Amino acid sequence: MNGFMTKPQVRKAIEEILGDILPKVDLKKVECDTIIIGGGPAGLSAAIYAARAKLNTIVLEEAICGGQAATTFHVSNYPGTDGTVSGRIITENMKSQAISFGARIDEFKEIFDIELTRNRKYIRTDDIEYFAESVIIASGANPRLLEAKGAFEAKGRGIHYCATCDGAMYQDRHVAVIGGGSAAIEEAVFLTRFASRVTIIHRRDGFRAAGTEIEAAQANPKIDFLLNKIVLEVKTEGHALSALVLQDTKTDERSELKADGAFVYIGYDPASGLFKDQVKTDPTGYIIASEDTKTSLEGVFAAGDIRTKQIRQIVTAASDGAISGIMAEKYLASKNS
Ligand code: NAP
Repeated sequence: MNGFMTKPQVRKAIEEILGDILPKVDLKKVECDTIIIGGGPAGLSAAIYAARAKLNTIVLEEAICGGQAATTFHVSNYPGTDGTVSGRIITENMKSQAISFGARIDEFKEIFDIELTRNRKYIRTDDIEYFAESVIIASGANPRLLEAKGAFEAKGRGIHYCATCDGAMYQDRHVAVIGGGSAAIEEAVFLTRFASRVTIIHRRDGFRAAGTEIEAAQANPKIDFLLNKIVLEVKTEGHALSALVLQDTKTDERSELKADGAFVYIGYDPASGLFKDQVKTDPTGYIIASEDTKTSLEGVFAAGDIRTKQIRQIVTAASDGAISGIMAEKYLASKNS
């Protein structure tokens, strides 16, 4: 535990203290065969398979469906596409497909309470109590935040985590991209649609991104690289970024890069805070499950980026979703036989 309370714990504490004063909410009760937590490619794919197997299926999504994939402008490697399809279109199609098979999608549903250890699973949101025979956790991962001084305060005002969402703000401006994985390199290339110059800042001189991705970035005349550098501080003027203070990882030398905006792509952290006291996770918070998506709890499955696995791609998330939908169906069939 990191010492912070999870949202359900905060909610419970408030209700215990203010129980008599808080207005009583009439909670609706909903029963179903399987609840899928998360509406990204893994969750939607799970919904397609579960609903098609005639399970009464509900997807709970805290915002709108799509997950990380929906923030990717071009998904070049999703099979069966022309390589220029947007993540938003892929996930919108998945959502329509799930609905066409009978899945119910409940968006903007934040979970306040969850009990997965009992036979009949329980999930409570603001206005609904859900009871399910099985649960598929497909809650994905959240962008890792830049820990440099001033970065938190500058979020949305110079420091950004989604080029698709915020890139157009930087028409003919100079932006930095921080990171050396596929996301950083792909999004740097994407940002050249708007920015006049894109500087990739990476803490090493080797990359996690694929060779072809690096070659495309190196061939782009708008892109330059600053390697072996970490960002120590974010400097702002008014509501805009003015400069990044950098430190060389080999010489410790400090320098300043003037830029109008910076996009951070330094990996993701698993969104497992709600469940990690109930289901087994690895030390970094990923839910332990193998290819069959079974977790340490009976009737609870983990699919997509939230699961311990080597490769996290849209296609592997969709694959997990399919497997978990089938496993939930098999689990319910054996339970009811
Ligand atoms: P990633 O592959 O984990 O790369 C994160 C990068 O950020 C690494 O280069 C890492 O440096 C750097 N980094 C980590 N923490 C840092 C910190 N505190 N300060 C500075 N730099 C830091 O993450 P990703 O690029 O977001 O990709 C995540 C997953 O999604 C990967 O599996 C990737 O293949 C996949 N992905 C797929 C596609 C696609 O299929 N089209 C697109 C994007 C991403 P080090 O290398 O030194 O550790």
